[in-house]
Amino acid sequence: MSTQIIDGKKIAELVRSEWRVRAEKLIQLDMKPGLAVIIVGDNAASAIYVRNKVKACSDIGIYSEVHSFPGNTDQNEILTCIQTLNNNPHIHGILVQLPLPAHFENNRIITSIAIEKDVDGFHFYNVGALVTGNTVFSPCTPYGVMVMLQRKQIHVEGQHAVVVGRSNIVGKPMALMLLEQGATVTICTSKTRNLPEFTKSADILVVATGRPRMITGEMVKSGAVVIDVGINRLADGTLCGDVDFASVNGVAGYLSPVPGGVGPMTITMLLCNTILAAERAHAGICVGYTR
Ligand code: NDP
Repeated sequence: MSTQIIDGKKIAELVRSEWRVRAEKLIQLDMKPGLAVIIVGDNAASAIYVRNKVKACSDIGIYSEVHSFPGNTDQNEILTCIQTLNNNPHIHGILVQLPLPAHFENNRIITSIAIEKDVDGFHFYNVGALVTGNTVFSPCTPYGVMVMLQRKQIHVEGQHAVVVGRSNIVGKPMALMLLEQGATVTICTSKTRNLPEFTKSADILVVATGRPRMITGEMVKSGAVVIDVGINRLADGTLCGDVDFASVNGVAGYLSPVPGGVGPMTITMLLCNTILAAERAHAGICVGYTR
């Protein structure tokens, strides 16, 4: 079986070029899209992610600002910052970089973000909207996977999609989005008995476990679409996914690599959601409920 490697970087560039046009239109209408990123503590990986987001914003025409706080900051200070950003008309998207330090109540922080500015799609209202098929913002990583499938003209309806992982930011919304598109969805977790039985029955297999190279060639059906969400840094400093690329290459019909697969799509969808939020603000479209 010859496997087609999905070039996430190329698809991301194409999507960004389309959305850059939308950002430019808004700028002409004096509505430059704006994203605020809040980062607490000195997690090195988070700092890199934030730097990448800021650069990506500037490349596509989004104004961005970073609010950095030391790790021992009082939660109320962050809530006050979010409140100010909620009321700032130049900011259309607000993102709190996770993970937060242990003394923070994640749910309180996330639900304090205005629904119409919650470009990560993590607010409970937006999660409920996704569940009921009334999506306000699709969470960026599964959204990126869906766009990847769509751009490769991979049909989802009627396919058996297996999602390995059930986190709130990847696995669960991924399963919901596949379900919404008409897939028959199975979710596997660390508690699943006989995982290969499930993965081998997948037409579309999405893996998000944080377990380096755990899905091997013999766990995959010949010709299946395999999307590797995992990003794992190995002891030698190199990156790898949750899929064993070497053994799955040649078995799968399509395979997304790490790096260069889902990663570039995730950040692209954040940009899209921010531009979408600015478009809604410009059009006076109200999403969510009135508080
Ligand atoms: P979490 O740790 O929050 O969730 C991992 C999930 O995988 C859990 O539901 C867990 O099951 C399940 N799991 C763990 N081990 C196994 C196993 N042996 N068999 C089956 N299921 C298993 O991780 P995230 O969802 O946040 O991230 C997953 C991966 O995706 C990570 O590598 C992360 O770095 C990457 N990632 C990549 C992004 C991108 O842009 N490409 C964005 C976000 C994350 P259980 O619930 O039972 O414990």
